[in-house]
Amino acid sequence: MENSYIKEIDTQTYYSEVANSKEPYVLDFYSDECAPCESLAPKYEEVAYLFGENVRFYKIFRQQNRELARELGVSSSPTVIFFKDRKEVGTRLRGGIKKKELFREIQNLVSENIFKERLKSKKPRTEDYDVLILGGGPAGMSAAIYAAQAKLKTVIVDPELTGGQVKITHLISNYPGTGKPVNGYELMDLMLHQAKDSGAQVIAAVDITGLEISENGGMHRIIIDDGDLTLCAKSIIISTGAKPRNTGAKGESEFRGMGISYCATCDGKYYDGKDIVVIGGGNSAVEESLFLTRFANKIQLIQNLEYLTANKTSADKLLNHEKIQVTYNTVVTEFSKLPNQKMLLKLKNLKDNTESELETDGVFVFVGMQPNTELLPNSLQKDQWGYLITNEDMETNLPGVYAVGDVRSKRIRQAATAVGDGAIAGILAEKYVEEFDARIKRSH
Ligand SMILES: Cc1cc2nc3c(=O)[nH]c(=O)nc-3n(C[C@H](O)[C@H](O)[C@H](O)COP(=O)(O)OP(=O)(O)OC[C@H]3O[C@@H](n4cnc5c(N)ncnc54)[C@H](O)[C@@H]3O)c2cc1C
Repeated sequence: MENSYIKEIDTQTYYSEVANSKEPYVLDFYSDECAPCESLAPKYEEVAYLFGENVRFYKIFRQQNRELARELGVSSSPTVIFFKDRKEVGTRLRGGIKKKELFREIQNLVSENIFKERLKSKKPRTEDYDVLILGGGPAGMSAAIYAAQAKLKTVIVDPELTGGQVKITHLISNYPGTGKPVNGYELMDLMLHQAKDSGAQVIAAVDITGLEISENGGMHRIIIDDGDLTLCAKSIIISTGAKPRNTGAKGESEFRGMGISYCATCDGKYYDGKDIVVIGGGNSAVEESLFLTRFANKIQLIQNLEYLTANKTSADKLLNHEKIQVTYNTVVTEFSKLPNQKMLLKLKNLKDNTESELETDGVFVFVGMQPNTELLPNSLQKDQWGYLITNEDMETNLPGVYAVGDVRSKRIRQAATAVGDGAIAGILAEKYVEEFDARIKRSH
């Protein structure tokens, strides 16, 4: 989309025309082949349309302006930086940038009146689709590829950048066709490209502020960014996946992301040469502990049972690893932080009820998963653990509503099974949309 409020500049133009400008301005460093940059682009354009009279908006291609990026301390794409009175202000935005974050930072650059006036001029949009896919993990991507290749107008919506749990998995060695273990991020990037090339739209890193699922075969609606965008669809495929379960110990939510992590691939690198605690004893806890031995000096694994529930090969590998020690029959009751920034864990032995304390540099929690169903209406049938119930055709109890992947009630949750579910729903959504269109035609 052409946007006269956004100017593409290079290093030379930056220093000659922009760096000394008194007007407030914004720099967006982007790269080629960058899914988060593509997700940011329409939001940046919209914000530039709204505030372009008051703020100057620039784009800088990072790969061709590396020196400038280095000087400004930009090491990833996209990075958006805000300037007022020739000085950087506010917070730099990186990764999956949401529109509300752009607005929050623009608020620092213009007066309160201008900010409110310009926001009022926003024009809400509504778009119609055949198939709306909630969630861009492997299940959603597979559904999108099938639906879009069947020429259905298809959209994937995800509150995060797409890729799901696979994106943050270091290596996947059991996904057929890859030949050798592949990096989860790369596998999901391939799926994203395939879905887009098939014709699916992708709307990622947005706030989903409303969801109306029809109970009687009517249109479904999803409201994005407080009504800026409403998507209507004849059929909906729920592929919202699952997220890590909490231990439930005191202090866990307070120190989430600040000493307590749920993703070894994302955060392992911060614990080079340090001591860490891993909580859990299943496949994830064991596999991720083995991965974390690349960084950590020592790993203490805390398991509530008196044995590990992971598969025997991995469990044996862990038990023979010189860096790993296992404490059985023990749970964490409280997390806190010491003045030296180390985490302090209160532990309880479930056999003799004795309590103890353990100091560590960081904690990784892998105690199972729970489905992402918070946004979904109660009219959808769920099992006792909250997973969506479907039949073999991935149909839920509501017409035109499918559930696929880890959010679905089933025994095996893997990337390959998620992709299989997605394929079934993608194909059957086509039949449903055909019948939907015929029904509407008959009623006219
Ligand atoms: C540490 C770890 C290692 C793993 N290793 C392997 C492995 O080696 N091999 C293997 O096959 N499987 C592995 N898995 C399992 C595999 O990752 C999952 O089975 C698979 O990702 C499920 O895909 P999905 O699309 O159903 O859900 P997810 O991958 O969970 O994706 C769900 C997507 O939905 C989005 N979402 C959440 N809420 C909403 C909402 N309200 N609206 C819209 N979108 C939403 C999320 O942001 C996410 O992008 C591993 C999982 C973990 C946690």
